[in-house]
Amino acid sequence: MVFPFKSVEDFRIEINEEHELFRKAVREVIENKVLPRWQEIEKNNEIPKEIFEEFAAQGFFGVGIPEEYDGQGGGQTLVAILTEEVARAVPSLAVAIGVNHLFGIPILLFGTEEQKKKYIPPIARGEAFGAHANTEPAAGSDVAGIQTKARKENDHYVISGRKIFISGAEKADYFVVSARTMPVEQALKETGKRWYGISLFIVERDTPGLKIGQRFNVIGMRGEQPYEVILDEVKVPAENLVGKENEAFKYIVTTYDHTRIGIAAQAVGIAQATFEQALNYALQREAFGQPLIQFEMIIQKLADMYMKLEAARLLTYWAATLADQGRREFVIASSLAKAFATEAAEWIARQAIQIHGGIGVDEETGVARYLRDAVITTIYEGTNEIQRLTIVRQLVRQAFGLKI
Ligand SMILES: Cc1cc2nc3c(=O)[nH]c(=O)nc-3n(C[C@H](O)[C@H](O)[C@H](O)COP(=O)(O)OP(=O)(O)OC[C@H]3O[C@@H](n4cnc5c(N)ncnc54)[C@H](O)[C@@H]3O)c2cc1C
Repeated sequence: MVFPFKSVEDFRIEINEEHELFRKAVREVIENKVLPRWQEIEKNNEIPKEIFEEFAAQGFFGVGIPEEYDGQGGGQTLVAILTEEVARAVPSLAVAIGVNHLFGIPILLFGTEEQKKKYIPPIARGEAFGAHANTEPAAGSDVAGIQTKARKENDHYVISGRKIFISGAEKADYFVVSARTMPVEQALKETGKRWYGISLFIVERDTPGLKIGQRFNVIGMRGEQPYEVILDEVKVPAENLVGKENEAFKYIVTTYDHTRIGIAAQAVGIAQATFEQALNYALQREAFGQPLIQFEMIIQKLADMYMKLEAARLLTYWAATLADQGRREFVIASSLAKAFATEAAEWIARQAIQIHGGIGVDEETGVARYLRDAVITTIYEGTNEIQRLTIVRQLVRQAFGLKI
């Protein structure tokens, strides 16, 4: 069998009847309450609060969160199903859900019991929102390059720095914030590791010194635009440190290993929506006296779109299954799924526009927005270049025990 996998059984995807029942329930809510409002969301660049209230009532914010913290349980597979269905209608709404996981996963994996009890249940119930503040003007892919600093003073830390592109910041009640607790030079001298010396903190929205800055107007994901977050001598209690001081680089990277399955699922939703629209249009629209679907070049496009869509879906649910089984190979699978599915979505959305001809580039048709959203999925939570690095590094490490 292909390394680093050991058996054909490693390629099993575990989806059961309950997953399908859940998918159908989500689809119904989305078709009734979300899809009819996509134009309003695009125009106002805002998700109406009634949609969040509906999601809270349905328990959607608790999907993937253990029941003991008021969640619905379900793991990565259920999160992927929810995300795909939501993104099929309004991808930015799937981002709003994903951002909560970016906040919650590091706490669930590395936080104290007190932190979990305090911060996770309100998020799971949909009563509060979280955000994840890592990226900075001088450091995105290069997490070790962050310059935000935190210094310990008695029983608290004081954090100063500037974060950019923080999704959900304007409505977040809580943030996880990365900061250097040891200068990079000292980390190199003491450990030989540039990534050492970063810590992660939970910061509450109303803490003095935390300010939401400018909104970035990015090309897509209208409804969930990212913001600047400024931290000016923000004082947080020492008990808000997540895990161990100086060790958070690993926590951040591990968080993305999990959450990028959600980005792959966003892409599958986008690909599904645009493929469906293109197929319907090709059946209805006539040119030269026959439906578009009779033209060989259109057939070829549709076949290629569908091939990529299903391959993206299989990779995504395979990565989710491996993650739910606690298999370390899930890290490779989640990078494969994220890079492949997001590029497939971008390509499929572009072909869908082409099949629609002129109305494909008219915003009112609702196809073009998916292309703008798809481009963003190739960039955040680890660009696809970084995914390729991860794939080969992990492959070599897991198969040969070598570090490259
Ligand atoms: C809409 C949106 C929402 C976001 N939300 C959040 C959020 O909620 N929280 C948060 O912390 N961040 C968020 N981000 C930031 C996002 O994660 C970063 O933009 C992303 O990780 C890339 O970092 P960068 O923009 O600094 O690009 P850079 O790291 O500067 O990369 C620039 C280019 O160089 C390439 N590159 C960099 N290093 C390498 C390498 N080693 N090998 C090969 N190529 C390389 C990249 O792939 C890219 O093509 C968001 C971004 C966007 C656009």
